[in-house]
Amino acid sequence: MDQKLTLALSKGRIFEETLPLLKAAGLVVAEDPEKSRKLILPTNDPQVQVIIVRASDVPTYVQYGAADFGVAGKDVLLEHGGEGLYQPIDLDIAKCRMSVAVHAGFDYANAVRQGARLRVATKYLQVARQHFAAKGVHVDLIKLYGSMELGPLVGLSDAIVDLVSTGSTLRANNLIEVEHIMDISSRLVVNQAALKLKREKLQPILDAFDRASRRKA
Ligand code: ATP
Ligand code: MG
Repeated sequence: MDQKLTLALSKGRIFEETLPLLKAAGLVVAEDPEKSRKLILPTNDPQVQVIIVRASDVPTYVQYGAADFGVAGKDVLLEHGGEGLYQPIDLDIAKCRMSVAVHAGFDYANAVRQGARLRVATKYLQVARQHFAAKGVHVDLIKLYGSMELGPLVGLSDAIVDLVSTGSTLRANNLIEVEHIMDISSRLVVNQAALKLKREKLQPILDAFDRASRRKA
């Protein structure tokens, strides 16, 4: 069996925060994706390459085996569903939380108490649907692909479900975090077939990632 490995990463915080883990596995990526237009980046190991994909596409590449493993946020994995993926390690990187936020002038507690039907804009339909169903709150979900913070400001929605880290984007837009749904971090995901067929090459890397992320935690 060919033991060549492809790792799927997204640009930005996931790439940056995965670099030290790769280093712990003896792997150095040859180019900086912020500077290069290349989507396939070699490493110092001729058997290992990195592909750069959209954060929300990482599970798809790994599920279909186009990448053997990847790094994806829990937010992305919950929306994807995790089919065909083995999720051995919480890497404890790209940490943030999934929250409900509303415009500062909106009385969320009262709206919920009165059983009002809430309009919620989000990229995270699965998480939002589950969260409000568990609370028994009726919602109309509006799918957005980004800039959720705008929703309540222009009357698109009463609330948003979005990722928050420092809260400065919310504050800058006069929004208030009213519920913390869950903590988010990024996980290593591995194609189930690759785990069996390329174990010899893959396992030492998984072990190094595991040790390095524990050290950090
Ligand atoms: P795209 O930019 O392709 O639309 P995205 O905005 O989800 O996708 P990134 O901003 O690179 O992509 O985020 C990648 C992952 O990092 C997210 O899936 C999430 O797990 C985590 N993340 C997102 N926002 C934050 C944040 N503010 N702080 C910490 N981690 C975050
Ligand atoms: Mg982004």
